[in-house]
Amino acid sequence: MEKLIITAAICGMGGTKEDNPAIPYTIEELALEAKAAFDAGASVIHMHVRNDDGSVSFDKARYQAAVDAVEAACPGVIIIQPADGGAVDWETLENYKEGDPVKLPEMFTLPTGTCNWGGDGAYINEECDVFKRAGILKRLGIVPDLESFDKGMIDTIIKGNNIGLFEHPAHFDFILGVQMAANVRDLTFLSSSLPHWATFTATGIGPDAWHIAASAILLGGHVRVGFEDSMFLEKGVMAKSNGELVEKVATLAKLLGREIATPDEARKILGIIK
Ligand code: ZN
Repeated sequence: MEKLIITAAICGMGGTKEDNPAIPYTIEELALEAKAAFDAGASVIHMHVRNDDGSVSFDKARYQAAVDAVEAACPGVIIIQPADGGAVDWETLENYKEGDPVKLPEMFTLPTGTCNWGGDGAYINEECDVFKRAGILKRLGIVPDLESFDKGMIDTIIKGNNIGLFEHPAHFDFILGVQMAANVRDLTFLSSSLPHWATFTATGIGPDAWHIAASAILLGGHVRVGFEDSMFLEKGVMAKSNGELVEKVATLAKLLGREIATPDEARKILGIIK
């Protein structure tokens, strides 16, 4: 089986130091958390950035400073920038011209559809926007991280592929336990619904992290773990760092017979290096 890519989502937009003192706020803390995850086997870091008081930062310069610090701490690591709150936004990418003083990311999150967070919260991503953004990333040679919350989002990407919007392989990022249940049956359904030109990473939110990680390893997919999705090593045991969460995935992989991919091996699997 292909080597396993471990993505560490080291800091989300929710959760505070009251929930877990290890949630990184400062750029130094972010770099330390990234390094702990990297040293434990993560080849990809997905991150959001906070202000020093813990509030979510949308400052592009601060994000770029975080990227620089993480790259210095984790030589060769792949960074996935989020669609909101990164060093670049859709407008910057759309208007990007050769020679602009903007460092383009290797991977960028492309939400593939609309998701209900629960209650009155929804994350609206209309198909026209998904396709327009896919076209922008393709033009710039940035690999999309196809953030998907249910099976219909796979179908949307297949539809976009039919009009030439994606390079192959395409890489899905299944987030389970939000709009679609996080269980082995549903992850098997998703992975068996993928076209031959796609790979996937999966994460289960909260207590669903570990059976989704084990299932993704067995199904030949890849695993995302980290404070953005889950903070517990097991029931009642809070992880002291993202490194501990990544280490548990690496241990599962070893037990189940999957080797861990280095960043450059991950680049080949993800199509960043052809
Ligand atoms: Zn995120």
